[in-house]
Amino acid sequence: MPELPEVETVKRTLNVLIKGKQIEYVTVRLARIIQRPDDIQAFANMLAGHSVVNVERRGKFLRIVLDGLVLVSHLRMEGRYGLFQKNDPLDKHTHVIFHFTDGTELRYTDVRQFGTMHLFQPGEDLRLPPLNKLGQEPLEPAFTPERFKEIVAGKSTKIKSLLLNQEYVVGIGNIYVDESLHRAGIHPEDSAKVLSGEQLDNLYEAIVSTLTEAVNAGGSSVKSYVNGQGESGSYQDQHLIYGRKDQPCVSCGTMIEKTVVGGRGTHYCPNCQRPTAI
Ligand SMILES: [Zn+2]
Repeated sequence: MPELPEVETVKRTLNVLIKGKQIEYVTVRLARIIQRPDDIQAFANMLAGHSVVNVERRGKFLRIVLDGLVLVSHLRMEGRYGLFQKNDPLDKHTHVIFHFTDGTELRYTDVRQFGTMHLFQPGEDLRLPPLNKLGQEPLEPAFTPERFKEIVAGKSTKIKSLLLNQEYVVGIGNIYVDESLHRAGIHPEDSAKVLSGEQLDNLYEAIVSTLTEAVNAGGSSVKSYVNGQGESGSYQDQHLIYGRKDQPCVSCGTMIEKTVVGGRGTHYCPNCQRPTAI
């Protein structure tokens, strides 16, 4: 599933590709993608005639801001956008097509069909599901070491599970949580409340630097993720821990192990990331 760096990359690409374009009409080929409004014809009718003002990101969601509407899109497992000419052959997994007045089309394809779109009036989207309960953006100035400590304070949840919970900090998924915990030398099953101030400072630093480096590399290309122009990010080449089971740890040479934490496959170095003694 794309995480913050991948969605940020899609956002930036879409701004280059579709900003300023006007929607002539919309075709929905798979109703389940459209979560709001209930009626896909109403969805298409609402969008016709509107122009793309900007593409933004909130957590792992894209906010496609139009003149007078906001389309909230989540790619989930394998959703992707691409810009095409109207006569280009159609992929069988293309579920939603935004036909622009200039003869180009933004196509949403999704083999797994888990992606979602919600359409809102301006201002509604941040007050209603799925965006209303999202927590702190980790790459905004308001995310400071002090803010991070406030979020974590006193929670007995496993630190990995806490970081994956989008109600606390948004945008971190299974790749970047494993990478951040490894950089900070923290065991993924440590309870959040046992971590020292120094450990939390290190973890804060690891989260910000990992996400920033991944954004700069265009995200990680795992599974089918590509950006809106069909290009792959390269951050997977810089992964220190994720996907490296039974390979030596870059820091110490110990074999990286894979376990399950909170139902999620979890990579860690048993030497660099020892459980914190209570
Ligand atoms: Zn190690």
